[in-house]
Amino acid sequence: MSRRWLFADQLGPHFLDDRKQPVLLIESKAVFRRRVYHRQKAHLILSALRHRAAELGDQAIFLRAETYGQALRKVREPLEVCHPTSRAALAFVRDLDRVTVLPARGYVTSLTDFADWADGRRGALRMEPFYRFAREHHGVLLDGRDPAGGRWSYDTENREPPPKDGKLDVPPAPMPKENDIDAEVRADLDRWERQGIRFAGRDGPRRFPATVKEAKARLRHFLRHRLAAFGPYEDAMLSTDPWLAHSMLSAAFNLGLLDPMEAVRGAEQAYRKQGAPLASVEGFIRQVMGWRDYIWHSYWYFEPSWRTSNELRARRSVPDWWNDLDADAVDAHCLSDVLAGVRDRAWTHHIPRLMVLGNYALQRGWRPAELVEWFRTRFVDGYEWVMTGNVVGMSQYADLGRMTTKPYVSGGAYINRMSDYCGGCRYDPRKRLGDGACPFTAGYWAFLAGNRSRIPSNARMARTMKQLERLSDLDAVIAQEKQRGSDPP
Ligand SMILES: Cc1cc2nc3c(=O)[nH]c(=O)nc-3n(C[C@H](O)[C@H](O)[C@H](O)COP(=O)(O)OP(=O)(O)OC[C@H]3O[C@@H](n4cnc5c(N)ncnc54)[C@H](O)[C@@H]3O)c2cc1C
Ligand code: SF4
Repeated sequence: MSRRWLFADQLGPHFLDDRKQPVLLIESKAVFRRRVYHRQKAHLILSALRHRAAELGDQAIFLRAETYGQALRKVREPLEVCHPTSRAALAFVRDLDRVTVLPARGYVTSLTDFADWADGRRGALRMEPFYRFAREHHGVLLDGRDPAGGRWSYDTENREPPPKDGKLDVPPAPMPKENDIDAEVRADLDRWERQGIRFAGRDGPRRFPATVKEAKARLRHFLRHRLAAFGPYEDAMLSTDPWLAHSMLSAAFNLGLLDPMEAVRGAEQAYRKQGAPLASVEGFIRQVMGWRDYIWHSYWYFEPSWRTSNELRARRSVPDWWNDLDADAVDAHCLSDVLAGVRDRAWTHHIPRLMVLGNYALQRGWRPAELVEWFRTRFVDGYEWVMTGNVVGMSQYADLGRMTTKPYVSGGAYINRMSDYCGGCRYDPRKRLGDGACPFTAGYWAFLAGNRSRIPSNARMARTMKQLERLSDLDAVIAQEKQRGSDPP
């Protein structure tokens, strides 16, 4: 049996054919020189890789080197590798004579099945029809040939604002216990920093699974204790509780520790055997085998130049306070709290990413390519393949709507409805002009005004554009936001 080279995001047993298969693991220091990663993300990657090496013992050759090329020169035998997760890594392994590239693992639907489905369709390739195809193809949450409960999606039931008393009554997810491997990683990263490698954010306890055991424990706990509340509060934000009922499993999926199908089947079992509410179960399954797979497949299916789209011609650089995660420089309560979450945990849930961070960046006209780099490096679950769909497509609308019918841009009213932020803010979400004008509300109108000729007109945008035309103070709002520019709000 050939030796299987596992990249640091292919660490679970589902990347091997046999429990005893010989393995190659490589830790490359150059990876951390090329980009400014969040310190906790660097910690998690190294910890997960070293934990896997320790588990495999003599079964693995574990090489620590400056580059992959240097490490590979020390291994003479033929190697196999599962399809890597970025175009650059795929090109690199395909160029190596001794390496056989196998199909991708770690996603629910295969690349070929997606391509067959997509080739047969006309028009935009949206997530919803793909998700329906995947549910049918894999036989998930079906009663006969019909979707369980009679509907494919319960999304409309999953949009509750946060509880009024500011508390979601769910037990906290189990946190990993750090061990000697984590202590060694921390000491190495301290040393690398002294040698000049730069990291962003603050160090902190490791909060995300680094082993299969930790990942499975978090999944089990989620399915038993948190899944029921996941659906209704999926979109809610609370200043006192960054986690709410989210699974906090993205990093474990993306490191390859957890097979997403295990999570999907586990959620289905929770519905069928433990009576977990269907709207929550379906909502979670849609995230994992719908959204996650859709983002993965679109990265490979669409042309590589999609990644550098900038159809709204956003020209401003991402400012230093944003790059440095300087939450203390920001007064806007929502943005300050979310940025502090990135600084302190390298994680926020989906809505703060989309409707606070992405929304603000979009309104300010920051370059999508710089945001891709930012999201990729500052988040514990950030990888190249996740960026194009989520950042370029969804959040920055830089492709003018390949994945969405309208830009994810909103004023303070949305944030006010879905969070407890506005009560404690020096701005007023209803005001767009003058002292106390909410930067999101004002930025929203200024963005629409600045991009009205570029945003394709469609039924979903028509009402908003009519409202825009009726604003008597629009010029003043535009001037005010021009003045605010990219300064911390
Ligand atoms: C601008 C932006 C950037 C993002 N960057 C990343 C990223 O770097 N890595 C990443 O894994 N997700 C990313 N997401 C998607 C999503 O925000 C995170 O997967 C989620 O917040 C992770 O927390 P969780 O594990 O508790 O997820 P839950 O809310 O519990 O959802 C369950 C799982 O669904 C999957 N999922 C749901 N939506 C998506 C999606 N749009 N793309 C990929 N997976 C999805 C994740 O694996 C997640 O663990 C991004 C979204 C936006 C809008
Ligand atoms: S008022 Fe505006 S800036 Fe303040 S928390 Fe609400 S949305 Fe954010």
